Amino acid sequence: MRCSFCNKRIPEGTGTMYVKASGKIFYFCSSKCEKNMLKLKRKPTKVEWAQKGVKK
Ligand SMILES: [Zn+2]
Repeated sequence: MRCSFCNKRIPEGTGTMYVKASGKIFYFCSSKCEKNMLKLKRKPTKVEWAQKGVKK
C-alpha cells in the first residue's frame, strides 16, 4: 500500500490507517503525513517534500 499523502510505499506492519466518518480509508507512512492531510488539509501536489516519493 501507499501513503495517501506523499504516495510513498509503506512497508507492511508500519504506517497508520485512518478511516473517515464517510468511510474513506487513508493510509499514512508517518504522523507528519497524517497531520498535513487531516489537520492542515494540504494538497500533496502543493507540498514539495511530498512530491519526492511520487514517480513522474
Ligand atoms: Zn507519507
